Amino acid sequence: MGPDIDVSTLNRIISAAKKAVVVSHHSPDGDAVGSIVACGLYLAGRGVDVKLLLPGAMPCNLTFVAPEAHPILIHEENPDAALAAIAAADTVFCLDFSGLSRTEGLEQPLRESRAVKVLVDHHASQEKEPFAEVIASREVSSACELLFWILMQMPDVAGDPARLPQRCLDALYVGMMTDTNNFSNSVFPTTFAMASALIAAGVDKTALQQRVFNVFSEQRMRLMGYLLKDKMQLVPQYGAAYMILTEAEKQAYNYVPGDSEGFVNLPLSIGEVRLSALFTETPEGYIRVSLRSKIGTDVNALARGFFNGGGHINAAGGRLYIPVDEVAAYFLDSLQKHFGR
Ligand code: 5GP
Ligand code: MN
Repeated sequence: MGPDIDVSTLNRIISAAKKAVVVSHHSPDGDAVGSIVACGLYLAGRGVDVKLLLPGAMPCNLTFVAPEAHPILIHEENPDAALAAIAAADTVFCLDFSGLSRTEGLEQPLRESRAVKVLVDHHASQEKEPFAEVIASREVSSACELLFWILMQMPDVAGDPARLPQRCLDALYVGMMTDTNNFSNSVFPTTFAMASALIAAGVDKTALQQRVFNVFSEQRMRLMGYLLKDKMQLVPQYGAAYMILTEAEKQAYNYVPGDSEGFVNLPLSIGEVRLSALFTETPEGYIRVSLRSKIGTDVNALARGFFNGGGHINAAGGRLYIPVDEVAAYFLDSLQKHFGR
């Protein structure tokens, strides 16, 4: 039913693990949170002493995914505990990123750690050197889907999701559901097979959808309306749309992390738009870049070339270290350099 994955090395690594850290990327999305929670719960079930770790805070609509028994340590909020967990770990499981630089402040501690490191990822190309084992595929929707198929091949699970804890199944579903934008992109036949198996095993699809997508504030919706009405700019010669969200605007709408999730997709519903960009000023001073495109337009290359980032062909991201009032000119210049004309 799923992709053929050789889990023998991973299974040996898990059998030998006593204290593990499970970590994902900075600015975590549903796939990052879902994959560390699911992986952590599976490892705990195999008797491993597990610590879940994220470099920075997670959006509030995802906090419910974290299990009470294994709260997620946030490095930027609790650096001492995060570093102690890495120092104590004999094994580190990395999920949903292609290189350790995406763990930001945890990059150096992870590089210096002598722990056995495993990477499970669905991006284009992975850093190999730090890892004893890399399991990667682009033929899946998400890290959670890849992890699901890995777990299905583990001897103790033997293809039966009902042998995994319910919270683990929920977390896997949330990661897949959010990375596909609720089944609208990066969906493979195996993605539906996974969804089907999870629902058959008791995942309440409607409840999870509700908890992830329908829990935002009124202010968040008004911010969305303001951005679309007053801030969205079209660049017709490149079929591009962009929006710039400043810190002042975020404060005016009581912005909380996660509030701008999904905004970048909205301009793609315009017929002429094939590329959408959202630039968000951060309290730290840099600009978070979010890029989306329709089939036939590669934003991964654009993100790598101009925005210090990367990702997937139709969904990528990165960062800019320039003042917010220079972003529009920089973006227009990058379009011209990248696409010509
Ligand atoms: P989002 O726009 O949702 O933040 O990110 C979309 C995708 O772009 C993510 O799934 C991730 O693969 C990639 N991405 C986002 N930010 C970065 C970044 O700073 N560096 C890299 N390499 N990829 C990123
Ligand atoms: Mn992902």
